[in-house]
Amino acid sequence: MGPPGSGKGTRAKIIGRMYGIPVIAAGDMLREAAARGTEKGKVARAYMNRGELVPDDIVISIMEKRLNKPDTERGFVLDGFPRSVRQAVALDRILEKQNATIDTLLYVTAKPEIIVGRLSLRRSCPKCGAVYHLKDMPPREEGVCDECGSRLIQREDDKEEIIPHRFEVYERQTFPILERYQDAGKIKEISGDLEMDQIPVALEEILGKP
Ligand code: ADP
Repeated sequence: MGPPGSGKGTRAKIIGRMYGIPVIAAGDMLREAAARGTEKGKVARAYMNRGELVPDDIVISIMEKRLNKPDTERGFVLDGFPRSVRQAVALDRILEKQNATIDTLLYVTAKPEIIVGRLSLRRSCPKCGAVYHLKDMPPREEGVCDECGSRLIQREDDKEEIIPHRFEVYERQTFPILERYQDAGKIKEISGDLEMDQIPVALEEILGKP
């Protein structure tokens, strides 16, 4: 968990690779549903483009289906879920049925000035979801995805006029869920401002050897 653009996705992917577990990214799944043009996806897209949370029912049903797939049995990383108190309650219910629990809530801390720069320079692949940064992590060929060769885009919600609204939504709707995990002592902090090669080192210190 952490504010938009703090580097959650980057850290989640690294954890997935280090520990050999699937990364379940709510934003990516919603964008995929939108790209497929499903009913839920179409509704989701409208909220995402405005920088608002997609309605809980849609997100919860997509995530529940995903969490019930067999590849989650050895563990998983959640990126961008839960993002509201209702989603956190739903996650508890889903995990209870599976006899599973959340071990750690990794909280990514980042200064607002870093985040705004990051989001406005972020470019994404609409096809495979790869993420780039025009200055810090540019694609090999300008405007083209390294992974699949598609044309990179700027997400609607990464446009400067939408970013402040995403912060407000984060503070109002997502921040309050921290309390649920605080009592259990599950929250561990990681800086959102580490060099790429320092991230695995920091993660190993927090989460233990893979
Ligand atoms: P970031 O973390 O940079 O905001 P994401 O890809 O995680 O990027 O999220 C982008 C958008 O997707 C959010 O602004 C929201 O509209 C939607 N979204 C992602 N996860 C959720 C969720 N758990 N609940 C509701 N909406 C979500």
